[in-house]
Amino acid sequence: MNHLEIDTNLCIGCGKCAKMCMKGNIEVVDRKARETGKGCLECSHCVSSCPKGAIKLIPKSNGEGGFFSDIKKSKSFDGGMISEKDLKDLYYAMDHGKGRCEFVTLSGNELNALMETVWHIVKDREKDTPVVKEWAAWRDSNNVLQPNPVLWNGSQVLFIFTDSIDRALIASNRMVVKGLDLGIRGFHSNVIMTAYSLDRSKMSAHFPGTSKELKMAYVIGHARRLIEPAVGPITKLKGLFGNH
Ligand code: SF4
Ligand code: SF4
Repeated sequence: MNHLEIDTNLCIGCGKCAKMCMKGNIEVVDRKARETGKGCLECSHCVSSCPKGAIKLIPKSNGEGGFFSDIKKSKSFDGGMISEKDLKDLYYAMDHGKGRCEFVTLSGNELNALMETVWHIVKDREKDTPVVKEWAAWRDSNNVLQPNPVLWNGSQVLFIFTDSIDRALIASNRMVVKGLDLGIRGFHSNVIMTAYSLDRSKMSAHFPGTSKELKMAYVIGHARRLIEPAVGPITKLKGLFGNH
């Protein structure tokens, strides 16, 4: 299976991509880069290292398939808001402050307003987008006990605006790496992107300060701690059964 689209007309055989690839998925033969078939992490390092812009990652429709994609699926958040400072650090890590991408994170009323727009755009597409059916049922039942099937219990959505899907992939992979450091996780929202592809002008009205195209939308939040430290329960047990 090919993961890369390599333009051999542009490739000058410098080998930078092959050196960068942690998987050994690229080799240079007769001064042209090609895939070896050893697998791909979708890290985009080869894309960003190529001086000729000869490599593109072949995008999956929903970003599935690689290590980075797999850890972009976390839907378990602790409910706390990511601070402005952490968001700023995240944005910087994603584009190194070069202005090739624009980032917006919506929450609260702004996010609610956007999600109402998304709903009105996608609500008739239950057949093509099964999650819309779940969303409709969730909205009808006004179910506060179940997480919203689109946002789960996420309360912030980070939007990546840029000119190319490769640039967005690089930014999102950097988001994952920096997110590990900051305790931030997330998942890509296909529903939001579907709405954008169906009615760009209605969606764009929610992002007045942006000039580029929306390429990706990630529901983000602090990862929920799944394992409690052993000390707590043991202390409690000692309290229950210990000598008084
Ligand atoms: S995206 Fe990463 S793992 Fe895949 S071929 Fe490029 S450098 Fe190698
Ligand atoms: S970095 Fe770009 S130009 Fe150099 S070998 Fe790889 S694809 Fe070719």
